[in-house]
Amino acid sequence: MTHWLQDQARVRERRGLVRSPLVRGVNPGMIDLASNDYLGLATDPRLAEAAREAIAMWGTGATSSRLVAGTTELHLELEHELAHLIGADAALVFSSGYLANLGVTTALGGPGTLMVADEQCHASLMDGFRLSRSEVKNFRHNSVEDAAKALANRIHPRAVIAVESIYSVGGDASPLAELLELAETHDAMLLVDEAHSLGVAGTGSQQGCGAIAGTRLAGHPNVIVTATLSKALGSQGGAVLGSTLVRDHLVNRARSFIFDTALAPPAAAAALAAIGIIRAEPWRAAAVHRNAAALSAQLQPALQRLGTAVDRSAGAVQSIPMPSAEAALAASKEAHTAGVSVGCFRPPSVPDGVSRLRLTARATLTPTDIEQACAVLRSILERTS
Ligand code: PMP
Repeated sequence: MTHWLQDQARVRERRGLVRSPLVRGVNPGMIDLASNDYLGLATDPRLAEAAREAIAMWGTGATSSRLVAGTTELHLELEHELAHLIGADAALVFSSGYLANLGVTTALGGPGTLMVADEQCHASLMDGFRLSRSEVKNFRHNSVEDAAKALANRIHPRAVIAVESIYSVGGDASPLAELLELAETHDAMLLVDEAHSLGVAGTGSQQGCGAIAGTRLAGHPNVIVTATLSKALGSQGGAVLGSTLVRDHLVNRARSFIFDTALAPPAAAAALAAIGIIRAEPWRAAAVHRNAAALSAQLQPALQRLGTAVDRSAGAVQSIPMPSAEAALAASKEAHTAGVSVGCFRPPSVPDGVSRLRLTARATLTPTDIEQACAVLRSILERTS
């Protein structure tokens, strides 16, 4: 076994795919284009205060699973507010978005369920399909036509179409209205992961409420939403949202809900405070879109030279395909040294196999931050081949 581990390490080295956790450090001078703290709430004093109060009241940990003694009134209030935010009938909170996706896919899946999933779906969905022992058919990224082919003449009594409303790596949006029609035609459920759109997407008075709020999908019996509390909400945790029928099914069948210690009370309290801020301060979601447009415009010339563009972004995520894994890693390291933190995504974290830089147009970036960051990135990209 140790020989195999050594072989694996050598293969990673040879392919330029060695990964190790980056230690963040507290560096106020660093321009953050890497984190998923889209609205700048992870360091908001109001979230910290809510978490402190929850610790004083309930303790640091939940002490047991939800069905034993881990459910506090905070969990129920959070579920109520989350459901209200996106326009769902009910919500169930998990201790991470990953576990929410595992829970819903395994509880809905099984040998009688066909999972029809966009090929770029997040690993947590793909892992859930495998764990559920469902048959899985992947369709071409964002191709409703291909999804329809996968559903045609199915022999399975049940089917689920799975997508992300804004894709985590590419940053582009999913054709949700057409996918709902497809789901209705085939009596399928539409499972939408809103990890990267909650807090960011939504229009008018629903700005920040996610891609589904205010559309025909909100409250639709065929639609199930999953969300994370650890990106725009600045906390930690996940949720599944849908009808009360779905919620009750998960409470009884989702093993990652039943057998996992409940979400920690301070995380629940911080997420609740974040929901209040998303409603009261729509300027944050608006700033994400403004900053995304500015990043894209200021990087365009350098990207054209590389034969690529950042033009599909529907939210905070800006994706820059790079010529190789080595080029992506070198560029991210150089940016970091110059005071700009960007994401470096390489296989297996890239669903299309293309290594890239991933930038997040966070709400609290100033125009000067964006100008400085783009100057650094342009200089790097101009030397990239
Ligand atoms: N879904 C998507 C699309 C994600 O990007 C992520 C996190 N990277 C998750 C689910 C998992 O959420 P969490 O980090 O809360 O486990």
